[in-house]
Amino acid sequence: MTIEILQTHKLLPRCEADLNSRYTVHRLHEAEDRDALLAEVGSRIRGIAGSKVDAALMDRLPNLEIIANFGVGYDSIDTAAARARNIRVTNTPNVLNDAVAELTIGLMIALARRIPQADRFVREGRWPAGNFSLLSELNGKTVGILGLGRIGKEIAVRAQAMKMRVVYHGRRRQADEPYIYYDKLLDMARDSDWLVIIAPGGKGTDGIVSREVLEALGPEGAVVNVARGTLIDEAAMLELLQSGALGGAALDVFEKEPEMSEAFYALDNVVLSPHQGSATHQTRNKMSDLVIANLEAHFAGDPLPSAVV
Ligand code: NDP
Repeated sequence: MTIEILQTHKLLPRCEADLNSRYTVHRLHEAEDRDALLAEVGSRIRGIAGSKVDAALMDRLPNLEIIANFGVGYDSIDTAAARARNIRVTNTPNVLNDAVAELTIGLMIALARRIPQADRFVREGRWPAGNFSLLSELNGKTVGILGLGRIGKEIAVRAQAMKMRVVYHGRRRQADEPYIYYDKLLDMARDSDWLVIIAPGGKGTDGIVSREVLEALGPEGAVVNVARGTLIDEAAMLELLQSGALGGAALDVFEKEPEMSEAFYALDNVVLSPHQGSATHQTRNKMSDLVIANLEAHFAGDPLPSAVV
């Protein structure tokens, strides 16, 4: 009897092929009638591959043992409900650190030098009428990292290569790190030119980048969000960007995705990116392999490579 698992959203072809070769896979996201599928196979499901798993879904799967999330952020999984039901949860840490850190620096340079806007300026034939605006550089500036974790540390290293001064905020000081620690996010924002957000989403961080924090960055300051849209007060950010009270924003994630607020489209002081922090062939393949490795280890009774619950 092959093990039956539930897939909750589309995965890479490589990941889906690997799942299909090992397990009987039921595709919840493709089911015309989700209820009927769950009623039919729910009691046989022992694993989930994918995210977006709430307590109600767990209740339909009484023999669920493991949720293997595709991604390091697992804020769309109710981990408390999983813990209460003795369901293991795994994620895909580390393999995506470099990809996300590279995109972050790319977004910062793109915003500082308005690279997308400059590209449009050239393509639209506006160059002969006059030069592009003078802008600002990263070197010599202070970047405050909200969340000096696995990815945050890779961003810090690259920011230093840009000759930036790095400081950070988290819930605790990390004694082994050489950067200055702020125990208050607002204080860090006041002292920073750039705020890079790379802490997890979820209840603990909901809206922590408040209007006050964004105002503290000021008209010359910029925010970069490569974490989750939920961390920022997006309505306040939009207002401050429109009025110029906040200098700029480079955003890979939004409150609502992919149907994000169209108010961003009209702003010239933003750079927008479609939640693509880990979206490279190399990294997505490694994430796929880690999803499979966690499922395999679990069903073989071995230690899980990357468990969060
Ligand atoms: P880590 O767990 O390694 O690091 C998270 C950091 O956030 C830690 O340093 C932690 O420090 C800090 N943190 C956690 N909670 C709080 C809080 N309430 N207030 C302040 N700081 C906090 O995670 P990763 O670096 O691996 O990933 C970070 C996040 O990046 C993921 O959760 C995911 O949502 C996002 N991500 C986005 C991607 C994209 O495509 N844009 C791709 C990959 C990840 P401390 O414990 O001291 O508070």
